[in-house]
Amino acid sequence: MSFKVAIIGRPNVGKSTLFNRLAGKKLALVDDTPGVTRDRRIHPAKLYDLAFEVIDTAGFETAAPETLQGRMREQTEKAIDEADLVIFLVDARAGLLPDDKAFADIVRKSGKPVVLAANKAESRGSEAGLLEAWEAGLGEPVPISAEHGQGIPDLRDAIVEALGEERCFPEEEDEEFAAESGVLIGEDIGDVDAEPAYDEAKPLRIAVVGRPNAGKSTLINTLIGEERLLTGPEAGITRDSISVDWDWRGRRIKLFDTAGMRRKAKVQEKLEKLSVADGLRAIKFAEVVVVVLDSTIPFEKQDLQIADLIIREGRAPVIAFNKWDLIDTPQQTLAELREATERLLPQARGIRAVPISAETGRGLDKLMEAIIETHRVWNRRISTGRLNRWLEGILAHHPPPAVAGRRLKVKYVTQVKTRPPGFVLSMTRPEAMPQSYLRYLTNSLRESFDMPGVPIRIAPRASE
Ligand code: GDP
Ligand code: GDP
Repeated sequence: MSFKVAIIGRPNVGKSTLFNRLAGKKLALVDDTPGVTRDRRIHPAKLYDLAFEVIDTAGFETAAPETLQGRMREQTEKAIDEADLVIFLVDARAGLLPDDKAFADIVRKSGKPVVLAANKAESRGSEAGLLEAWEAGLGEPVPISAEHGQGIPDLRDAIVEALGEERCFPEEEDEEFAAESGVLIGEDIGDVDAEPAYDEAKPLRIAVVGRPNAGKSTLINTLIGEERLLTGPEAGITRDSISVDWDWRGRRIKLFDTAGMRRKAKVQEKLEKLSVADGLRAIKFAEVVVVVLDSTIPFEKQDLQIADLIIREGRAPVIAFNKWDLIDTPQQTLAELREATERLLPQARGIRAVPISAETGRGLDKLMEAIIETHRVWNRRISTGRLNRWLEGILAHHPPPAVAGRRLKVKYVTQVKTRPPGFVLSMTRPEAMPQSYLRYLTNSLRESFDMPGVPIRIAPRASE
């Protein structure tokens, strides 16, 4: 169930050129016999990760001059009618002519989602025309060059924005994407983006996990400011997952408590298994997972396993170094612990780690800030334009290696999902892509776009 796009504009703005670029083939529209009116045709088109159909409206202007106006108008209206989205093209070099305005009126009245593109923007002196294009009243013009391929990533982003993620990425696509996840760093790319936009109104879902006695229950009690949960040395008291809703500085929070990772000497095995399952459930449910460590005995094997699990599940981890009141040399210890975090958890460099005292409440504001900031990064979306400018730099300075004597060619990169950020790398021979180079790309992406501490997935995919 793909969508249909009509490219609309007065003659000579570059519709056929753009059409050919999207439909990926020369249709010999320009040198068609004058006077021959052809039927509108529909062609499959691709724009990076977008698959759609483009309605061919070109060639009408070759009709006899006396009927030109009328016929073009009629054909234009028909095409718009049939389309789910209109790309309205103007010529940035020529500026906005009366004919452009007439066509823009038709488009505006249709009420269809529209992307305004100012073509020939590579030309000298196109800046004035680009500004004029605003007067079409169709929003911000996207500067492109249909002939030279400039601005095409931005065109892709504008289409997604105008039409919405759900229309642009039908489910089949996502399943296919998930099926290719064998080549990903980490496990798979995760679920389909159900909530693409960052929504402040929705409660931010947090789970608190950690080894027994790390201070989970104490932390939750202090955070919500009431003795909702029992604390103490008794095993198994809070073994069920419990969710608590509350507000922090006006942000709605849904907190999942679990004593799931609790592991106390006297706990029966059955109970323990049940508890671990609870912990997993909490991680799956949460967006940000706080790993509570006892700073006096940090980074035990189980702590690392928990953190690794969170990252592999695609959730955003935040580390709380608890019982900080027991640390004599806070500055030095913090430096050591942060260094250890980077060394032991390289899968998601830059994980936020905050010293706290769950008992006294010190550091909890900083912890909440870290949670909200991490959640933002986890939701981050980067425009295709920016991504591909980044990729250009990478390819210039550190291109992919040759495999079996042949260089791998990377064509472009797009972000296909958030929560956590997931990217598709379109390239030749994706199966030959070395993991080390993918890791390099991941790290560079993380640094260049300031995405510390969250899982990032890159999936190489064959380009046509
Ligand atoms: P249409 O009548 O709207 O279908 O326009 P065409 O695609 O036939 O293009 C009209 C003219 O503009 C042709 O000579 C194209 O080569 C030229 N053209 C199309 N796109 C560009 C562009 O991005 N830059 C420049 N400089 N010329 C372009
Ligand atoms: P849980 O098993 O992870 O839920 O841990 P609890 O919240 O039950 O805490 C285990 C023990 O650590 C209790 O005796 C708490 O009083 C103690 N504790 C928790 N947080 C702190 C803290 O910030 N400082 C100190 N000194 N003790 C703490």
